Amino acid sequence: MTTLVLDGAHLADGLPIRIVVDGSQITAITEASSKREMPTGARLLDASGLIASPGFIDLQVNGAAGHDITSDPSAMWEIGEALARHGVTSFLATIVSSPPGVVDAALDAWRTAPAARGAVPIGLHLEGPFLAPSRAGAHNPENLRLPDQEESAGWSRAAGARIVTLAPELPGALDLVKGLSARGVLVAIGHTDADAATGRAAIDAGARYATHLLNAMPKLDGRAPGLAAALLADDRVTIGLIADGIHVAPEMLDTVRRTAGPGRLSLVSDAIAGLDLPPGRVRLGDVDVVVGPEGARLADGRLAGAIAGLDVGLRTLVAATGCERAEAVAAVTSTPATLLGLDDGRGRLEVGGRADITLLTPELDVAATFVAGELAWGADPSRWGG
Ligand code: ZN
Repeated sequence: MTTLVLDGAHLADGLPIRIVVDGSQITAITEASSKREMPTGARLLDASGLIASPGFIDLQVNGAAGHDITSDPSAMWEIGEALARHGVTSFLATIVSSPPGVVDAALDAWRTAPAARGAVPIGLHLEGPFLAPSRAGAHNPENLRLPDQEESAGWSRAAGARIVTLAPELPGALDLVKGLSARGVLVAIGHTDADAATGRAAIDAGARYATHLLNAMPKLDGRAPGLAAALLADDRVTIGLIADGIHVAPEMLDTVRRTAGPGRLSLVSDAIAGLDLPPGRVRLGDVDVVVGPEGARLADGRLAGAIAGLDVGLRTLVAATGCERAEAVAAVTSTPATLLGLDDGRGRLEVGGRADITLLTPELDVAATFVAGELAWGADPSRWGG
């Protein structure tokens, strides 16, 4: 077992530290000091000048580097390798609304879990197919269906379904919220025309997450505050946001951040196959998406996911709101980890926890990403012995 000593990085809000990693686990976190004894046989990596963050957790990834998970779920591990350069160490592979059978095949693919080096797909986010046709966004309307207990009977946390996004106003949706929650699935409200009362009923039934707040749902309005306000007002709900600078205006990012308060904001990338590719055409499920200067769009101009990694979201949040780095880091680490109930150290830097570590420059660019103690990506690999 290799012992790694990452020395001299700062926590996002604190002192210089030394992190000792044995195999895949963090075994010590101490103050940085060149005088402190090195464990015998350890490899010392100088991380001075960098910020040590837990590895990022992205709850909504459709694809990257030319691969679309809905079209080819077996590509999710290759996508994980691409995500490491964006600081991501864990993610949910997202399946958009698709014909019956696609989700079950994707769950089967996820369970094969081949050995891979990059960010780990820790389960699936099923975005649809029980969504409002009027808020389909980039989902193919032909694939939208009414909530169906039979179709979703096999969707459980144990089977790999971690989040299901649905529209709570559809007939049968609230029963589905209860059933999925009982099977350990986190139910998210999204792609919906629900009013505030229906949103609150869904939360009472067990829904705990807002999928990309302010996108594909009614807008905030002074006289009819509606669903978005109901989600923001309820501390039981974690707020998902796409912080690519295109989906939500900077002023609204700050409004949402301040209203939600600490520990409730979870940034997602919503990245599609066009992430890390030059402009051009890619697939998202069974629709065509054009990636250009205005982001990823359908032929009619509607947004179709994003082409910015989660690291861009982190930087955008800090730039748009002026919030502390530690608060922004929490929105891509501890908050999604708490939401998913991850208890193996993911989303935190803690002794005994998994050594998923992202090193950031003071400008919050990713310098290196370690997944379970192994270098998965480095801007300067030679610095990390990669
Ligand atoms: Zn969506």
